[in-house]
Amino acid sequence: MKTIGLLGGMSWESTADYYREINQGVARALGGLHSAELVMYSVDFEPIEKLQHQGDWEGAGRILTDAARRVQAAGADFLVLCTNTMHKLADDITGSVDIPLLHIADATAKELTSHGVGTVGLLGTAFTMEQDFYRGRLETQFGLTVIVPDVADRKIVHDIIYRELCLGSVEAGSRAEYLRIISGLAAQGAQAVILGCTEIGLLVSQKDTDVPLFDTTRIHARHAVSMALGR
Ligand code: GLU
Repeated sequence: MKTIGLLGGMSWESTADYYREINQGVARALGGLHSAELVMYSVDFEPIEKLQHQGDWEGAGRILTDAARRVQAAGADFLVLCTNTMHKLADDITGSVDIPLLHIADATAKELTSHGVGTVGLLGTAFTMEQDFYRGRLETQFGLTVIVPDVADRKIVHDIIYRELCLGSVEAGSRAEYLRIISGLAAQGAQAVILGCTEIGLLVSQKDTDVPLFDTTRIHARHAVSMALGR
């Protein structure tokens, strides 16, 4: 079994889910008392969130490349960056270590295409919904058509992530807003919706809607298990 390197803390609420999902995945695959070989470096999210919102991606990059080197030094065979948004810095991170990065958007796109989805809705932070590092990658590298909410709904989705979910707060009113927005994306032609922020699974899950949901935390964790087990 390879050693998985989690770069987490963005936020720790979702990193905790990664830890559980990965261990459950290894136990399912190998049985008995098997669990994952992994190391984790978990950052302090407050300064990172400030740098994101100031647009200081270089500053955030310095923190994350340092953290990635620590994960490698701790013995990881590959990196799992436990956030969609910070894949904006994927190239800086891979350039600073010798181990590969299991890219969250690539894992998600592979699942979508294997399920025959061509047009997909995307929910996440404003950075993820609006910038090329994520939606552009899905479109140009995987040929997906990506639909995002309008600007007012993008703000609602973004604010709920930072003001509630990253603080562990799960509100029924926010769930209703997300479900309204998910239905709107389906009405515009989305065959499925990507939960493209690792905390959204805390708020909505497949039991809440008939629209097929692709939860990036679960997908990323599953792919990490496959990579660790060489499957
Ligand atoms: N965990 C979130 C994501 O998947 C947002 C927090 C962050 O800005 O990293 O994008």
